[in-house]
Amino acid sequence: MNVLVLNCGSSSVKFQIVATDKARIAKDADRLLAKGLIERVGSLALITFSAEGRAVYKDEAPLKDARAAIDRIARWIVSEEAGIPGVRSMADIHAVGHRVVHGGERFKTSMAIDDKVIAGIEDCVELAPLHNPANLKGIRAARELFGRGVPQIAVFDTAFHATMPETSYLYGIPYQLYRRHKIRRYGFHGTSHRYVSYRYRTMLGLPKEKVDIITLHLGNGCSACAIKKGDSVNTSMGFTPLEGLLMGTRSGDLDPSILEYLALKEGMSLSEIDSMLNKQSGLLGLSGLTGDMRDLLEEEAESQDRRAHLAIEIFCARVRRYIGGYFAEMGGAEALVFTGGIGENSPEIRRRICAGLECLGLSVDSRKNDSLKGTLGAFSKPSSKLKAYVIPTDEELLIARDAYRVVSGIPLPR
Ligand code: ADP
Repeated sequence: MNVLVLNCGSSSVKFQIVATDKARIAKDADRLLAKGLIERVGSLALITFSAEGRAVYKDEAPLKDARAAIDRIARWIVSEEAGIPGVRSMADIHAVGHRVVHGGERFKTSMAIDDKVIAGIEDCVELAPLHNPANLKGIRAARELFGRGVPQIAVFDTAFHATMPETSYLYGIPYQLYRRHKIRRYGFHGTSHRYVSYRYRTMLGLPKEKVDIITLHLGNGCSACAIKKGDSVNTSMGFTPLEGLLMGTRSGDLDPSILEYLALKEGMSLSEIDSMLNKQSGLLGLSGLTGDMRDLLEEEAESQDRRAHLAIEIFCARVRRYIGGYFAEMGGAEALVFTGGIGENSPEIRRRICAGLECLGLSVDSRKNDSLKGTLGAFSKPSSKLKAYVIPTDEELLIARDAYRVVSGIPLPR
C-alpha cells in the first residue's frame, strides 16, 4: 500500500510517500518512495521534492494556502518528471496519513477520518490554536483532491501519552478547572516517543511489558518521556509544548508568576509574553545568538562565548533533571534513548547530559558515543547498569504504518 504522509504546519507542508504492508512491516522493509517540503506557503513558496534514486527537484511558486500546496504535491507525484516507482496516477496513492498535533482527551489512538473525527479535531482547536487549524486545512484539502474513496487517517501527537496517570497529567490548580476547561497535561512528540520505544523493543526482542525506558526527543522542540511497561507514564511537555525542557526558542519550565511581573515591568500583553516564551526564549533567549544547537556549539568552541556556553549547560542540566526525576518516579529504568536532531547527531551534547549520571548506573563508552551520528546504536559500556542508545526517529514511517493498519483493520500496536 502506498501511503502519502502529510504534515501540514502554519506555513509549511511536508510529505513522504511510503510503501508499506504486512510483509514489509514484518521484514522492516517499508520503502520510502518520495519525500518533499514546501516552505513559505502563503507567499512565494520554496519547493524541494525528491523521489527515490532521483536528483532533488527544486522550484519556487506562489502558493496561497495548504490546498494549493497539496495540489502542487499531487501534481508532481504523478508527473513523469518525478518518476516515483509504482506511482503513475492518483489511483496509486492508496491512503493519506495526517500528523495531527492535538487529539485532546478524545483521541487515544490513530483514527480513520470521517466527519465525526473532523468535528473532534475541530473541538481541539482551542487547545492547539496554532497547529490544529493547519492540520485541518490539510485534511480538508486532501479529501477534496484525492476524493472520498481514498481513506484518510489521523495520527495524533498526543495519543501516546493517553496512558499517563492522573498523578502525571493533573496540575496543582483547582480541580474544577480541569473539569470545566480540560486544563491538564497532554504531552506532545508522542509519535516520536512511541516510534523509538517500539524500535528499542524490536531491536532487543523484548515484549512490551519489559520496556522501562526514558526517551529524550531533542530537536528544535524537546521533550522527555517516561515509558513504563511500554506505556507513556509521564512526559515533559504539558498543556502546550511550552512546558518542560529548555528548547531552541521555548523557555520550558518557569514560575508562572513571572507572567504578571513581566506584564507589569515591561508593559507586555499576555499574548506578547506567550509569544516571547515560545519564540524568543530557550537557547536563543539565553545566548542572544541562535536557537540552533549546532551553531551554538560552534560559537562556543570558536569564540568561547560565555552565554552560548551557559545556554548549552542549562539545556543539558534540565535534561539531566528530568532523567533523574523520571528515574525516581519509575523506580528505575533500563535505558536512556536519545533521538531528534540534537539527540541523534550531537555526541557532545549527549556526553554533557550523561556526565554525572554514573549515580544512576550509567557508564558511557566515549568512543561509541563519538561514532554515533544519525545512526542507531548503544553508547553505554557493556557493564553499564543503565544503558544508553541513539535511535533515530521516524515519525512518518509510524504514520504510514498506522494508516495501513487502520485501513486494513489490523489492531494498532502501542
Ligand atoms: P525539529 O524539532 O524541528 O524536527 P530537528 O529534530 O531536525 O528539528 O532538530 C533540529 C536541531 O538539531 C537544531 O538545533 C540543530 O542545530 C540540531 N542539530 C542537528 N545536527 C546537529 C549536530 N550535528 N550537532 C548539534 N546539533 C545538531
